Amino acid sequence: MTTSTYLPAGLPAPLPAVDGLDVPYWEGTRRGELLVQRCGSCGTWQWGPEWLCHRCNTFEMQWQPVDGNGLIYSWQRPWHPAHSVLRDFGPYLVVLVELPAAGSIRMVGNLLGPADQQVVIGAPVEAVFEPHDDAEHPYTLVQWRLTP
Ligand SMILES: [Zn+2]
Repeated sequence: MTTSTYLPAGLPAPLPAVDGLDVPYWEGTRRGELLVQRCGSCGTWQWGPEWLCHRCNTFEMQWQPVDGNGLIYSWQRPWHPAHSVLRDFGPYLVVLVELPAAGSIRMVGNLLGPADQQVVIGAPVEAVFEPHDDAEHPYTLVQWRLTP
């Protein structure tokens, strides 16, 4: 199946949290920027978004752009459809990417390219922004690809 998106249409669209916690992240991805949280008090990087710093317990969390270069920390090749839209689609690749330049926080995403490719722990990857401009509430997903 050839589409402009990694996964087929029909999956639930992500929406920013109603309390606004992750709105800067989603606004950043629309601009092609990867933003993650960093504590303004102790400097700790943090992901996923939280109101409170896990290290020093202050409410000084700020959003900072990071360069989107990471390393594959772990991965999975799901064959079973986690959603009915994926019934005839699999397998696909899910990666846990570590960002060394951001305190080695880890983010989950898909690894672009053939689903049967060999995946190597520690391989360098870079963020790819996948816009969904036609969605009711347009959003941009962050996917990952092996660094050329
Ligand atoms: Zn802190």
